[in-house]
Amino acid sequence: MTRLLILGGTGEARQLAARLSELGDPALEVITSLAGRTRAPIVPAGVLRRGGFGGVDGLSQFLTQKGVDIVIDATHPYAAQISANAAAACEALNVPLLRIDRPAWTPQSGDRWHRVPDADHAARLLPQLGRRALVTIGAQGLAPFAALRDVKLVIRLIELPDPSLSFGMAVILRQRGPFSIEEERALFHQHCISVLVTKNAGGGDTAPKLAAAREAGIPVIMIDRPPTPAGPSVDTADAALDWLRPRISSL
Ligand code: NAP
Repeated sequence: MTRLLILGGTGEARQLAARLSELGDPALEVITSLAGRTRAPIVPAGVLRRGGFGGVDGLSQFLTQKGVDIVIDATHPYAAQISANAAAACEALNVPLLRIDRPAWTPQSGDRWHRVPDADHAARLLPQLGRRALVTIGAQGLAPFAALRDVKLVIRLIELPDPSLSFGMAVILRQRGPFSIEEERALFHQHCISVLVTKNAGGGDTAPKLAAAREAGIPVIMIDRPPTPAGPSVDTADAALDWLRPRISSL
């Protein structure tokens, strides 16, 4: 029996779980782990577990108890803590680990990107660039934006923000991508958006907001990705399957 743990929360993690489950290999168990932040997540194929492991020690214990042979870190590019934990636990236990690193977006002609290292810097820069902002950075990292008084915020996210944070007159849009260019244009127009605050998630599902900002000449505050741990990595779920092929006989 080969046991594979996918650290998930992304489309790539679901694609990989689906492709491996389609093999119908009785000698392969695919477990996807989700942090449990989203109340109604898109459920991956195979076995699902939810919730934190309890740091490096908890993850190490899980890997040992379950007899996990391979770990695929397919978490979001900004989920730095779980990636670091996975790297530490796998190194200590000598468990092979592959990271799926979705390529970052790069600025195109006409883009007006302002790159910042984190949400604090983004919130500080925001009032200098516009008075009506679309903020698409997820529920975490919103705290510095709660302090802003002179900027009207439109915050789009999957889960509601921490209720202890007050965003004044902000519009909260609870939506899950993908979003089309037409939808993004309409949203910018409806709320008179003059600046976009986002993370460099990469991929196609949420890229149309960048095209809409480019078309409208709107500045983008782009929060840079955190560094990733050293180790083997690939771009896509397909490339992860290639990496797994010599390790899983039914592939
Ligand atoms: P994070 O800061 O790296 O992780 C914080 C803690 O959450 C980890 O130490 C771990 O708790 C737990 N955790 C995170 N991912 C987990 C997983 N897949 N399975 C089990 N426990 C997990 O991560 P985050 O930025 O809060 O993101 C949480 C999850 O949402 C990630 O799985 C990620 O793929 C997904 N996601 C994140 C973003 C984003 O912008 N950050 C966007 C889309 C999806 P313990 O230490 O207790 O094990």
